[in-house]
Amino acid sequence: MIKPDAVENGHIGAILEKITAAGFRIVALKKTQLTQRDAEAFYSVHSERPFFGELVAFMTRGPIVAAILEKENAVNDFRTLIGATNPAEAAEGTIRKLYATSMGENAVHGSDSDENAAIESAFHFSEREIF
Ligand code: ATP
Ligand code: MG
Repeated sequence: MIKPDAVENGHIGAILEKITAAGFRIVALKKTQLTQRDAEAFYSVHSERPFFGELVAFMTRGPIVAAILEKENAVNDFRTLIGATNPAEAAEGTIRKLYATSMGENAVHGSDSDENAAIESAFHFSEREIF
């Protein structure tokens, strides 16, 4: 996902360009807005964390761009491309270093396993939106 901060700041095109330049194939893509229920479900693993309320408020405050990306070793390579959760610790040239503003508002989300990628893909897209 391209998160609400990066959408607000006009970075959709630049982020998609970095993703495709890094060798990912876009198999599904849409601009949409998460409801409170969507965001709570999507980030349910963090429901007991102190920042959960802030995270849900942020993720629902404006549109996001959801994508399914395909590549060999996609989960690890995408996390390398986006950089550390905290943009202050993200490597030079990573998407979060370039476009994130803070630990909470960090421009992009990446799935943390193939299993969660499949769950998150089904969360955002129906079969007929995947090519
Ligand atoms: P994401 O799952 O969004 O790709 P991540 O895997 O790098 O990010 P997680 O630990 O899964 O990091 O945290 C999910 C999201 O919760 C972070 O991207 C960030 O937006 C928010 N978050 C995590 N830790 C904090 C924190 N200490 N303070 C505020 N927000 C946080
Ligand atoms: Mg995560």
